[in-house]
Amino acid sequence: GLHPRHVQRLIQTRLPKRIQQLLSQISSVADEVGCSVYAVGGFVRDLLLHKKNLDVDIVVEGNAIDFARRFADQHACRVRAHEKFVTAVVIFDDGYKLDVASTRTEYYLEPGALPNVEEASIKLDLYRRDFTINTLALALNHDSYGELLDYFGAQRDLHDKAIRVLHNLSFVEDPTRMFRAVRFEQRLGFKLGMHTENLLRSAVEMDFVQRVGPLRLFNELTIILNEENPFPAISRLEELGLLACLCDQWRVDARVKESFRQAQKALHWHELLYTGSPVERWVVYFLCLSQPLSDDAMAAVCGKLSVPQRWQDILVGERCRVMKVFHRLERDQQKLAEYRPSEVSQRLKGIGDEMLLYAMARTHSDAVRLAVSQYLTQWRDVKPLLNGDDLIALGVDRGPRIGEVLALLRDARLDAEVSSRQDEVDFVRSCQMSC
Ligand code: ATP
Repeated sequence: GLHPRHVQRLIQTRLPKRIQQLLSQISSVADEVGCSVYAVGGFVRDLLLHKKNLDVDIVVEGNAIDFARRFADQHACRVRAHEKFVTAVVIFDDGYKLDVASTRTEYYLEPGALPNVEEASIKLDLYRRDFTINTLALALNHDSYGELLDYFGAQRDLHDKAIRVLHNLSFVEDPTRMFRAVRFEQRLGFKLGMHTENLLRSAVEMDFVQRVGPLRLFNELTIILNEENPFPAISRLEELGLLACLCDQWRVDARVKESFRQAQKALHWHELLYTGSPVERWVVYFLCLSQPLSDDAMAAVCGKLSVPQRWQDILVGERCRVMKVFHRLERDQQKLAEYRPSEVSQRLKGIGDEMLLYAMARTHSDAVRLAVSQYLTQWRDVKPLLNGDDLIALGVDRGPRIGEVLALLRDARLDAEVSSRQDEVDFVRSCQMSC
């Protein structure tokens, strides 16, 4: 195992100053309160793997809420306490969040149910975790700063690049761990341990996934689909029989694979342009996965996973309409270059970014892709220079006519028929004359 000095060195060289400072603040408060405090979980795992992870989770041998309040008394932050779970979130002025938990064990009333919480020692706290690689605790008190608690062979498994559960009933206790196992395996480039894979396969066989509440399933799936490149994990889920547990019509064939590849390209392109509006990556990939599904099948899987209503409306209702819009664009692709920007904008108006990116990923037409990219980057946000008040001053009737003339002006601007303010004024006057 790593020597504390080595770990201290990792902290100094690998972590931003902000996080180093946070750790030493925690250290001071821990000594003051007189209880042991540890950083745990993914943060410690990623520190040892030299991977960026700024989400610090700490565990307090004592009461987390008292600790968090004490911490907040001394620093610019506030506390959100969860009495039921004896946990707290410390929220800093800049929005940064620190999760504080009390050492505890959880017991499960039945497979798939949410855990109950009881106070216990750090070792038991670590024992309830999903995989050995997530069971490291890093001591933060001054005297022990940098010591690693490694009760379950975490460092060995990090070295072996193995995902292993802590005990045989792990997947039975909480079947969502099967999805987590695949996520960590693919993200970290690790491999499920042989015994762990056998346990997983038999839990799939026994249909334990069906015992998990839909929201928890949705949660695990979206975390996977939000990864930078979710395809390998989706493909692995299929191979293990887990994808079919979510939706028996989801398949990973060559077409779906190609859609994922194109979707990743489209998302990457969209990210680079930074339009200021972040997209929900998972929605784009969810659409790729559901390509062969009818609307009814799509509605069924959305229901089964309790996808939030506003996304269900898009995934089920919008999808069909938008695909028709795109079929028409593809049919007209020869002429598309001659279309006026206002015509293209008219057709794409109101379609959300996720659906546009999906359609971009799906289309085989370069002309259509170009039109959509111009719409997203140049045309969508075009506005006239004049506003409603200006139109009233020019004698346009109050009421719906204002909106109509603004829309005409916008189209004229899109199609470069007006450029200066005076052009717009002249345009409005000619509108007034013609009606
Ligand atoms: P990520 O980088 O994806 O956030 P993470 O390891 O921080 O990875 P979280 O989902 O934030 O993952 O969980 C934090 C810690 O809580 C994990 O390291 C794990 O030890 C524990 N944990 C989370 N979910 C479970 C679960 N279903 N069963 C057991 N332990 C879990």
